Amino acid sequence: MDGSPFRGVVACLATMHGKQWALRPLLRRRLGMGLRVAEVDTDALGTFTGEVPRVGSARETVVRKARLGMAVTGSPVGLASEGAFGPHPAAPWMPADVEYVALVDARSGLTVVESVVSAETNHAHVTTDGRDRAVVLAFLRRVGFPHHAVVVRPAAGPGAPEKGLRRLVDVLAALRRAGAGSADGRATLAADLRAHVNPTRMRVIAAAGQRLVRRLATACPACAAPGFGPVGAEGGLPCRDCGTPSPLDATLVDGCAGCPYRSRRPVAGRADPGSCPRCNP
Ligand SMILES: [Zn+2]
Ligand SMILES: [Zn+2]
Repeated sequence: MDGSPFRGVVACLATMHGKQWALRPLLRRRLGMGLRVAEVDTDALGTFTGEVPRVGSARETVVRKARLGMAVTGSPVGLASEGAFGPHPAAPWMPADVEYVALVDARSGLTVVESVVSAETNHAHVTTDGRDRAVVLAFLRRVGFPHHAVVVRPAAGPGAPEKGLRRLVDVLAALRRAGAGSADGRATLAADLRAHVNPTRMRVIAAAGQRLVRRLATACPACAAPGFGPVGAEGGLPCRDCGTPSPLDATLVDGCAGCPYRSRRPVAGRADPGSCPRCNP
């Protein structure tokens, strides 16, 4: 850490949702970098509850968010995080949380984005008329209520979502209001995915933060710029039974964000015949 180019720097973090609690200790410990919260309306870049659709990918949004914080605070170094919820890329029947964390350093032109894919998520929703109390209670148990908050909105038609609900009495009242405001009399009850009311998501953000600081603590062997790490992979891992190249990663490529230097690491092991184009066409 002594040689850390981030030592003594106070970066800004654009967040309204308490993400400093996950990221600040990591940055201080590994990079000697401080963190202050940039008061910017990150919801203007898109919300999980759909009032503001997100434009562009999560990877693009996280960099835009970091730059927004830098513009507001005048800080030369900015951080941001952004999550995306959907099917797991490796197992589409499972829900997944993909968390991106970015650092933008205007002093050196460095932009580094790291991400973590986690099956640990309570991303889920149910539609109910609110009368079947067992359905409501089972859902709340499943999403880890009340440590995790929930959101209620009308199932059909417009109507603002009620967010951050953590008391049963509030959830039931919100379900009645949302049902009354819905064309079909039903309400949608969903996990609140905002980090400050979703400890499961906060843990995944911390895991992405771990990757980011590890990468920022790694200097490029060619030019010594920080942020050397994984930039891609090449397929072709040979099948265990017949040796045919499979689509699985055979080589991991590390790269520098500041110069063209790349290094390649072979992946140990062999592919399962289930992934082999010859054994399992
Ligand atoms: Zn380099
Ligand atoms: Zn094979």
